[in-house]
Amino acid sequence: LIVPGHPFRTRPAAAVADPSSGPADPSTTSWTFAELAARSRALAATVAERTSPGARVGILAHNRAEYVAAYYGVPWAGRVLVPLNPRLHPREWADQLARSGAELLLGDTDLLGALAWPGGPSLELGAAVTAEHTDAGWSADDPWSGTTFDPAADESALTWLLFTSGTTGRPKGVRLTHRSLTAAMRASLACRPVDPDTVVLTPFPLAHVAGYQVLAHHLARRPVVVLRRYLPSELAAVAREYEVTSLSLAPTMIDALLDHVREGDGLRERIRSISYGASPITPELIRRVDGLLGCGLGQGYGMTELSGNAVFLTAADHRNAATDRPHLYSAAGRPGPGVEIRIVDDAGRPLPVGAAGEIAVRSEQVADGYWQVDTGEFATGWFRTGDLGRLDAEGYLYVLDRKKDVIITGGENVSAREVEAVLREHPGVREVAVVGEPDTRWGERVVAVVVPTAGHTLDPDELVTLCRAHLAGFKVPRRVVFTDALPVTGTGKVSKPALRERVVESSRADSGDA
Ligand code: ATP
Ligand code: MG
Repeated sequence: LIVPGHPFRTRPAAAVADPSSGPADPSTTSWTFAELAARSRALAATVAERTSPGARVGILAHNRAEYVAAYYGVPWAGRVLVPLNPRLHPREWADQLARSGAELLLGDTDLLGALAWPGGPSLELGAAVTAEHTDAGWSADDPWSGTTFDPAADESALTWLLFTSGTTGRPKGVRLTHRSLTAAMRASLACRPVDPDTVVLTPFPLAHVAGYQVLAHHLARRPVVVLRRYLPSELAAVAREYEVTSLSLAPTMIDALLDHVREGDGLRERIRSISYGASPITPELIRRVDGLLGCGLGQGYGMTELSGNAVFLTAADHRNAATDRPHLYSAAGRPGPGVEIRIVDDAGRPLPVGAAGEIAVRSEQVADGYWQVDTGEFATGWFRTGDLGRLDAEGYLYVLDRKKDVIITGGENVSAREVEAVLREHPGVREVAVVGEPDTRWGERVVAVVVPTAGHTLDPDELVTLCRAHLAGFKVPRRVVFTDALPVTGTGKVSKPALRERVVESSRADSGDA
């Protein structure tokens, strides 16, 4: 819906496009800043009427403009927004709602219907933004004051209670504050500069921490285009319709897009920058996107607990990587302003430059802790990320693996990512994930789970030979399991816990057959 009198081009704030119905379809919404401010205030009033101060307010919705109004409206009302990922199972929504103790749930009718929530009242999101409200305090000329959250509110007040992706286990509730989110937005704007005509498009679910990019672009008074669902084949048309100049994607989304880039579709001319992050990327994919789209690239390394990205590989770094510093292709980047990174050992003691260990972060971006549990990661002022990495002499961070994904076999540590990188080189391997399976003699043994490339018959011995040629003997997979698809989390990351279960099942089936 393009609202008459507020043409998109003059004062845009947010647009939500549903590419499956065509970019000009009425189911797409486009709001100016004044409209977004008005809807957010309406939502704040609705929420304030129905809940007590400081209450948690859940939101269970697909990407839509009203979601963005809730980003602002709920904190403006002095309540805490609890985004639930629509791709999770209804049982998981119920679990997160119960843990948050939410007093109200906002959402889409279809999702609310799928969730039987005995705990409390729910309200269709559209109804929440149409309540009576006043516009006092907002100037029509510049309704966006430049402060995302109420400047009068305590900086340490909770803004969003956001659950992690659940890649390594049960999702953890993270306490994000006005201060932590604002620091993340500012770091992002400093390291990924926004031009006066930047229009960013993102398909990330708004329930993911990547949504802080929406806030950051609004802070710079630039519009965002949010996709209701990611259809790479329609991306060029949506980009044309909304004059998109910049994309924010996960590596898997970039990979999917590259299959759809066509001569003359305008993407190469239109898109000036792509920022990516949320999971590891291969140097090969960076080279391909550079070759096909030739635009500026920016990587962000971050997580829910850091309110967004904290380490950035800038466009200049990417240009240097392409010319004479190819090692930078494996880097995640350097810390943003106000961010300090340390590599620490298991006892939390800092390690020297070049040594591998756990990545620890000190910054205003660090969240106020986990919700209702204290597992120690936030204890010292240096947040322990659970990721392994190393720093080089110039301060570049290299993310090696997740601590929980390291396989310990016969006392030796094997990084699953290192083995995956070797296997990925094989043309017959479309996707791969490496995990440990219990082994009475070695503790764990290395198993590779492989999705073969369509039309390719893969011989497991060939993959083992490839690994032997590149890796120490103890890192070579003892077993290769073929599958049609890897299990993924609600945010599309490979779920290693689910994969380990599957591997154990497959070995039971194998021994049953024997
Ligand atoms: P959970 O904490 O529940 O297991 P999660 O860690 O996947 O899930 P998120 O906060 O969404 O939840 O993701 C953050 C993690 O994603 C980081 O800790 C890191 O492992 C990975 N990650 C993010 N950005 C990058 C990047 N640029 N390169 C490599 N890994 C990244
Ligand atoms: Mg995590």
